[in-house]
Amino acid sequence: MSTSGVVDEPPESYTMEPVHEQTATLHTYCKESALLHRSLAELPHMVTNAQGSFLFLGNGQKILDACGGAAVAILGHGNPEVIAATVEQMQKVSYVHTMSYTTKPAEELAQFLVNMGGDAHKLTKAYLVGSGSEANEAALKAARQYFVERGEVQRCYYVARRQSYHGNTMGAMTVSSNLARKAPYTDVLPSNVSFVSPAYAYRYQEADETEEQYAARLISELRQEFLRITPEKIISFIAEPVVGATSGCVPAPRGYFRGVRDLCEEYGILLHLDEVMCGVGRTGTYFAFEQEGIQPDIVTIGKGLGGGYVPISAMLLGDKVVDSLRRGTSAFNHGQTFQAHPVACAAALAVQKIVKRDHLLQRCAECGQKLGRMLWETFADCRYVGDIRGRGLFWAMEFVQDPSTRAPFPKHIAFGARIHKAAFDFGVAIYPGTGTVDGVNGDHVLIAPPFTVSDEELCLLVSTLKRAYDVAEDSLD
Ligand code: PLP
Repeated sequence: MSTSGVVDEPPESYTMEPVHEQTATLHTYCKESALLHRSLAELPHMVTNAQGSFLFLGNGQKILDACGGAAVAILGHGNPEVIAATVEQMQKVSYVHTMSYTTKPAEELAQFLVNMGGDAHKLTKAYLVGSGSEANEAALKAARQYFVERGEVQRCYYVARRQSYHGNTMGAMTVSSNLARKAPYTDVLPSNVSFVSPAYAYRYQEADETEEQYAARLISELRQEFLRITPEKIISFIAEPVVGATSGCVPAPRGYFRGVRDLCEEYGILLHLDEVMCGVGRTGTYFAFEQEGIQPDIVTIGKGLGGGYVPISAMLLGDKVVDSLRRGTSAFNHGQTFQAHPVACAAALAVQKIVKRDHLLQRCAECGQKLGRMLWETFADCRYVGDIRGRGLFWAMEFVQDPSTRAPFPKHIAFGARIHKAAFDFGVAIYPGTGTVDGVNGDHVLIAPPFTVSDEELCLLVSTLKRAYDVAEDSLD
């Protein structure tokens, strides 16, 4: 059954945007690389070395990595302790198949992660894979299996939110709402998902509405959607506690997630929080959901887990889900060759132990407040700055053509991409965003420096960003 009516409608044409137009920093035309890059037309920059907060390019340029790639490099680059732990594990056990074996770093990492959930969160098992998309694929299947084990086989729908991103594999893309990425595949993606409004106050909170009233309106819409589909047919509701790539560091209004939790509880629907981008300390607490005072049934994390030293992600299951699997077939029907890879686990464990030992969550929260203050002081009165928002070391600025009406720039202006390019030319890498606002292009840039970023680097970041903004603004005159 299609849940059409509320389902995100794909754009009318299947035209995909050329990647090099979305990321204005790609400039070297070259077709001899055997590597299938994101763009077939142009080569990205060659990085020859990376240390601390900086990347060193083949052309001699030094770049402050103020976005950690995509909020990945939480410790910066070249950390000797992580490298030593990774090499040591390679020398001990480089690989075993998890059908028959387990390893110490995999067990320790899983234990570390469920402990970070704290007693109240009841996350009791970690499933370790390689990317955020894989973690979300696993989560979609674990959620379905939970109900199959309970005999509720009629539950086969997922509900997600517009302006969300959960990954690029078919299942993860199905519950994502990144229309540009989905467009060519809409005919082949499953249709058992529907979308509700994002929790995005800057765009959608009414002028005469309080934060609480806005949250209540969103919860009411979610209830209507559950009822429209029939709650007993729904598997899970999926959401990012702080939305990352599609809209730029958007936290929900106060009370929204408590309302979501209560509603899911009322109808027996699982709550799956995707913290692939905002988790692992990025917002100043280990999990972003801790700031919402709720307990999810399933959580997925990725990016910062291995800090970029290795590809690794995790699906964390609450005891309710684990219990159902244990009482049923006593197996999780989803094996992967490289799950719980010992070398990846050893590297991630080293990263996470450093975060804990060096009190980097606290540091992230404190530096984040400093960064927020600096952004407000520097950009609050700028002509095209619509919103400045963030938590921890996860900040975004949204640019609009007219702050009084919040009207976005026309797509061809690509204001965010202009800033991104100018900042890069001045030696600072930020994450460009071209999320959509009701089908119209929106512009934001995303900042996610390492938790180890120094005060001097923060100053360099903000002053360079202002120079880049000025270049972009002048370029419109
Ligand atoms: N979920 C969220 C919230 C993300 O931001 C991303 C990636 O940007 C993903 C999932 C997919 O992760 P990956 O690119 O590692 O597959």
